Amino acid sequence: IFISFEGGEGSGKSTQIRLLEQWFRHRGRDVIVTREPGGSPGAEEIRALLLTGDSGRWDAVTEALLMFAARRDHVERTIRPALARGQVVLCDRFADSSVAYQGYGHGLGADFIAQLWHLAISGFKPDLTLMMDLPIETGLARAFARFADTKTAEDRFEKMELDFHQRLQQGFRDIAVAEPERCQIIDADGDIETVSGRVNAAVENFLAG
Ligand code: C5P
Repeated sequence: IFISFEGGEGSGKSTQIRLLEQWFRHRGRDVIVTREPGGSPGAEEIRALLLTGDSGRWDAVTEALLMFAARRDHVERTIRPALARGQVVLCDRFADSSVAYQGYGHGLGADFIAQLWHLAISGFKPDLTLMMDLPIETGLARAFARFADTKTAEDRFEKMELDFHQRLQQGFRDIAVAEPERCQIIDADGDIETVSGRVNAAVENFLAG
């Protein structure tokens, strides 16, 4: 089973992924957690190219191509082999993030990203995608708190303007409307346990179906 987590900044993806990992372990499932951009040695090298330096380093198309180069390596070297071993794969972001960030956020459009998705990985997609949805101000407040804490280069994206984040949220919501079978919107506004309960319910519902 391949499950991806999507959402904007400060939506709590990484915390919820770790909790879902434990949830699967308690049920005796062999599970791996991975992330994008990155998730394989080659893709982590590409991640370093993408997330260091100033945010104008790559134009939008180059950034999208690098994302999909990393994603192909990640799929071929990490995700497919894990699925073949029967493992549950939990992934922090996948191609829907390219639709939202590069397609909606940077204006390349959903069709352009869909073509890259098809060319790079034959349209390979998760079995279930959990979209962590919360008010933009709440997410940004969480993200800024973390930024003040760590000041890592990887947090540079979080400084982008508000309408960028509104486009991201619109992107994720449009994907969920277009693919209701695969995508579940999770209300991510609440404490960790509350949101975790919603995540578990969505996964149980998927497993039962
Ligand atoms: O998952 P996390 O929020 O840590 O993602 C790392 C960064 O990579 C984010 O700040 C996000 O803005 C950026 N990103 C991106 N395009 C993608 C995936 C991630 O700009 N397709």
